Amino acid sequence: MASSHTVLMRLVASAYSIAQKAGTIVRRVIAEGDLGIVEKTCPTDLQTKADRLAQMSICSSLARKFPKLTIIGEEDLPAEEVDQELIEDGQWEEILKQPCPSQYSTIKEEDLVVWVDPLDGTKEYTEGLLDNVTVLIGIAYEGKAIAGVINQPYYNYQAGPDAVLGRTIWGVLGLGAFGFQLKEVPAGKHIITTTRSHSNQLVTDCVTAMNPDDVLRVGGAGNKIIQLIEGKASAYVFASPGCKKWDTCAPEVILHAVGGKLTDIHGNALQYNKEVKHMNSAGVLATLRNYDYYASRVPESVKNALVP
Ligand code: AMP
Ligand code: MG
Ligand code: MG
Repeated sequence: MASSHTVLMRLVASAYSIAQKAGTIVRRVIAEGDLGIVEKTCPTDLQTKADRLAQMSICSSLARKFPKLTIIGEEDLPAEEVDQELIEDGQWEEILKQPCPSQYSTIKEEDLVVWVDPLDGTKEYTEGLLDNVTVLIGIAYEGKAIAGVINQPYYNYQAGPDAVLGRTIWGVLGLGAFGFQLKEVPAGKHIITTTRSHSNQLVTDCVTAMNPDDVLRVGGAGNKIIQLIEGKASAYVFASPGCKKWDTCAPEVILHAVGGKLTDIHGNALQYNKEVKHMNSAGVLATLRNYDYYASRVPESVKNALVP
């Protein structure tokens, strides 16, 4: 029987369940104790067994249900049969009760591009900074990020044994973002969140030029966007290449769905069509409010050093 739901809403509902499953894999790998760490390009660019298993789970689960999607995952993995135990077939029914924004109601499966970061914040994951970690599934149409899911596997892990561990945030442009309580930093406070493990002189120069009241150095692009929407930071500033399209796609949607803005350091929107280069070469600037305050303070020297 044909479903009465649109392709986009079915995909988001499935991505929600698939991200949850990936979150359980991320927790299981730690519990089992063997992280299987592999160095990719340098000692701060790592891959673990959790990155590998979570990507296999997410990409295979999506491809089974939506065979015409373009799926781009962070990890380079050999093509191999994926264990049935890694496949998630569920969909989050609450999402299917929501209306699809009319501008997306006729989208076809083959027109969608899904950007997958199976584990964002790997460096921090290997160091036990577990709440920095997220699973990111971003959905793009005509080059624009339009829907996204963020699972935070260790949300609440320091809140005591009775707290529910883990959460999933999701959003669609034109519909909203759900799974968290929107909060703003007190007016007039400038709190910048930036990288913890990929800093350099440009990153520091840019942050300093913004004259912040406080600087938070934490791991993960997903984690930093959560800080923006929960009132812990007012701007995410990363004046360096290194962050990729799978890092920004899902977080950008959640931020945009609640009225925020994410661009490169020059103010250009990011593109997510399947041919686009993966690297966000001109960095990231994101805020929930007061975008112009931060954009106007990016030094010319920083802009000149970061070519889009
Ligand atoms: P961070 O804020 O350092 O956690 O970076 C956000 C995302 O971008 C993470 O997925 C990082 O792995 C990635 N990233 C940022 N800079 C680099 C870099 N120099 N090399 C590799 N990955 C990076
Ligand atoms: Mg990442
Ligand atoms: Mg990753």
